[in-house]
Amino acid sequence: MNHNSDILQITLLGATGSIGRSTLDVISRHSERYKVYALTANTSVNAMAKLCLQWQPEFAVMSDSSSAEQLSTRLQQNDCATRVLSGEAGLLQVVESDIVNCVVAAIVGAAGLVPSLAAAKAGKRVLLANKEALVMSGKLFMDTVRENNAILMPVDSEHNAIFQCMPAELNQHRLTSSQSSVKMPDLSSNSGIERIWLTASGGPFRTWSAAQLHDVTPEQAVNHPNWDMGKKISVDSATLMNKGLELIEAYWLFDMDISKIDVVIHPQSIIHSMVTYNDGSVLAQLGNPDMRTPIAHSLAWPDRIDSGVEPLNIFDVAKLDFEKPDIKCFPCLRLCYEAVKTGGSATVVLNAANEIAVAAFLDGKIGFTDIARLIEQTLEQASISEDISSLDKILHADAAAREITVNRILNLH
Ligand code: NAD
Ligand code: MG
Repeated sequence: MNHNSDILQITLLGATGSIGRSTLDVISRHSERYKVYALTANTSVNAMAKLCLQWQPEFAVMSDSSSAEQLSTRLQQNDCATRVLSGEAGLLQVVESDIVNCVVAAIVGAAGLVPSLAAAKAGKRVLLANKEALVMSGKLFMDTVRENNAILMPVDSEHNAIFQCMPAELNQHRLTSSQSSVKMPDLSSNSGIERIWLTASGGPFRTWSAAQLHDVTPEQAVNHPNWDMGKKISVDSATLMNKGLELIEAYWLFDMDISKIDVVIHPQSIIHSMVTYNDGSVLAQLGNPDMRTPIAHSLAWPDRIDSGVEPLNIFDVAKLDFEKPDIKCFPCLRLCYEAVKTGGSATVVLNAANEIAVAAFLDGKIGFTDIARLIEQTLEQASISEDISSLDKILHADAAAREITVNRILNLH
C-alpha cells in the first residue's frame, strides 16, 4: 500500500453504473482526500467519454477493444490525455498499480470477480459493492484479504450497516487486518453477538400473490420503490434473490453461523440492518436510502465525511414496519439458505443460474417466476464440487452452471 500520499488514489470499477455514479458524487465533494486514477466500464462509450472529460483519470478501461478504440478516438478529439486500455489485462493493470490505494469494486455480476479478487491480492483498500464476487469465492476472497493485508469495506448498505453495528475490534481483525494487531475476540462469548438482522424492502411485489407474480413484466420488476439501482440488482430485489445473495455475503464477511442471520422485511428501508447482542441490546444503523452514505463511510473509515445525503427526518418517517418474508412466493431466499448449507460450488452455481435467468427475463424470453425455477433446476442438475479453493475451479463451476441454465431456457421454447 502507498501510505506516503495524503490523497487516496482510486480505481473505480464499473464507473458508469449506479454505484459508480454515486461514488463519483461523493468523491467530487472531497477533492482534497481523493483522486480518480482509473475509471472502467463495459461498453458504454458515450457515458465513459463524458466521465473521462470531467475527471481526467490516468486510465480508462473498456471491456472490449472496439469500445476502447472508439473511446480513445473521442478523447483524442477532445484533447483528453487519459490512456485507454481494454479487457481483463487492462482491468488488472489499473487495479494492481502501485499508485492505487483504493479500488471500488462496482462491476455487476461474476464479471467483477477477477478484478475484485486481484484488488484484495494486491493489498488494496477494497470497497466491495460487487456482492456476486463474494458469493462466488467466499472463503478464497476472505483468505486473500487477510493474507495480503487488504482492507475490505462492505459497501452494500446492509453489510455496511452491520459493520457499523459490530464491535470495532472485530471488524479490525476480520476485515481490516492491516490496521491492527489485536487478537480475534471470541465471537461466541466476549463480543456477545447473537444475531444479525438483514433488512429487506421486500421489493415492488411484496404484497403480490403467487398468481400476480406470474405475469410480472421487466418494466415492473426494475421499478424499485426505494432504491435507484442497476437492472440486474433491481430484478434480484424483486425476486428477493438480492437478499439471499446478501445472506451469503454476510455469512462470509462476518463469519456468522447461517442460522443466526435472519431476514426481516422493512418496507421503509430506513433501518439498513441490525445486530442483536446477548445483553438484550439491538444496534441498528438508520438513514435515508441513498448509497452515498455507505460509500462515504467505506471511503473515509475510520473518519466520517459528508456524503451529500439529506439528514434523516425521523418525524417525516414517523413509522417503521417489520414483516416476515414470504418464502413460498419468493423461493430464491430459501435457495440461498440451502446453497450455503450445501457449501462448495453450490453458491457459484446459484449465482451463475441467476445471472443467466435474470438476463433472459429482462430479454423477454422467460417469465418472472421462471427465474427461481431455473435456479432450482440448475442446482439439482449441476454436479456440486466441494473444492473451490482456486479461482480456476470457481470459474469452471460458473461456466458449467451457465451452460445448464442456457440449455434449460432453450428447452422451454
Ligand atoms: P449497474 O448495472 O448500474 O452498473 C454496472 C457497472 O458495471 C457499469 O459501469 C457497467 O459498465 C459495468 N459492467 C457491466 N458488465 C460488465 C462486464 N462484463 N465487464 C466489465 N464491466 C461491466 O449496476 P449497479 O446497480 O451499480 O451495481 C453494481 C454492483 O453493486 C452489483 O454487484 C450490485 O449488486 C452492487 N450493489 C448495488 C447497489 C445499488 O444501489 N445500485 C447497492 C448494493 C450493491
Ligand atoms: Mg443491499
